[in-house]
Amino acid sequence: DEMAGPRRIRALHQDVVNKIAAGEIIVAPMHALKELIENAVDAGSTSLEILVKDGGLKLLQITDNGCGINKDDLPILCERFTTSKLKAFEDLTSIGTYGFRGEALASISHIAHLAVTTKTAESSCAWKAHYGGGTLTPAKPGQSADPKACAGRQGTQITVEDLFYNVPTRRRAFRSASEEYAKIADVVGKYAVHCKGVAFSCKKHGEAGAGIAVPATATVKDRIRMVHSSAIANELIDFELANEQYGFKTDGLISSANHSGKKTTFLLFINHRAVDSTAIKKAIEQTYSTFLPKGGKPFVYLSLEIDPARVDVNVHPTKREVNFLNEEEIVELICDDIRTRLGRVDTSRTFMTQS
Ligand code: ADP
Ligand code: MG
Repeated sequence: DEMAGPRRIRALHQDVVNKIAAGEIIVAPMHALKELIENAVDAGSTSLEILVKDGGLKLLQITDNGCGINKDDLPILCERFTTSKLKAFEDLTSIGTYGFRGEALASISHIAHLAVTTKTAESSCAWKAHYGGGTLTPAKPGQSADPKACAGRQGTQITVEDLFYNVPTRRRAFRSASEEYAKIADVVGKYAVHCKGVAFSCKKHGEAGAGIAVPATATVKDRIRMVHSSAIANELIDFELANEQYGFKTDGLISSANHSGKKTTFLLFINHRAVDSTAIKKAIEQTYSTFLPKGGKPFVYLSLEIDPARVDVNVHPTKREVNFLNEEEIVELICDDIRTRLGRVDTSRTFMTQS
């Protein structure tokens, strides 16, 4: 019926809309975990314990010792756009916390079985609640959906089970649990390096030892030693740079010309949020190429703090991409500084071998 007229336009079912939106924010288990880590850090935690089963598809559990959630807030915890971190649109320009639009838990509750156990300092007991489709649900059919009192320490435990159980096409797209676990370990490793004063552990269910274990007191260099390797940790130079004109400061640790890896390890944080930037990574690799043997790659950890008024964090719900003013100029300043530092270490080394 090629000649048929236009089909009628209909509104999608709210449930379908929510599932689509959730699938855009949470593409793989690592994205759910990143949101949960950021929430735990926002809550002032000094300890994060992560447990993973089947690459996060069967189970993702994160236990923190942060401020906890008020019992009275539990009914709206997983509604879309409920947050304790943002009130007005203008707040977006000065926000210091990771989350800001209250979509993470809502999204997860639409595509997984979610349970939350939480206790604040003021509460005499912990409360446990189950969620599905944005609202409180009974733990078992026929039971009440109300949060239940239970024993527990201060902080929050979030349990995500059967991620994408109701999105079969997405579920089928995952080839191997170990691939997903590797991506999870990568995210945890990034935050474990960056979050000074916070202990991290990440374990595969059923395994005795932790894949990642970092104590709260570890220095950044020690964190890199524990998450990556001693070989890298022993070849790091301090990186520090500030510039008033472009409203940024950055610090970090970068490998010297003595380290030549097979591929680049690039940990980039912008205003304490882990982000990807192919452009910055390329520029840094280019800078290192004149100092390293052919094909050699650096390790670079950079924490970039930019005046929030110059950053547009509102690009995409995933917040994986961040746009900021004068990106080209800032990247050039950073690369110039890296070049100077690499050159400096290089000369002292030449000098030493000559003497
Ligand atoms: P956002 O982080 O953008 O506010 P989320 O959906 O990630 O949105 O979380 C909603 C709210 O739930 C947060 O604003 C916070 O108040 C609370 N919350 C979530 N996780 C935790 C946690 N681990 N500890 C304390 N509060 C939490
Ligand atoms: Mg959040």
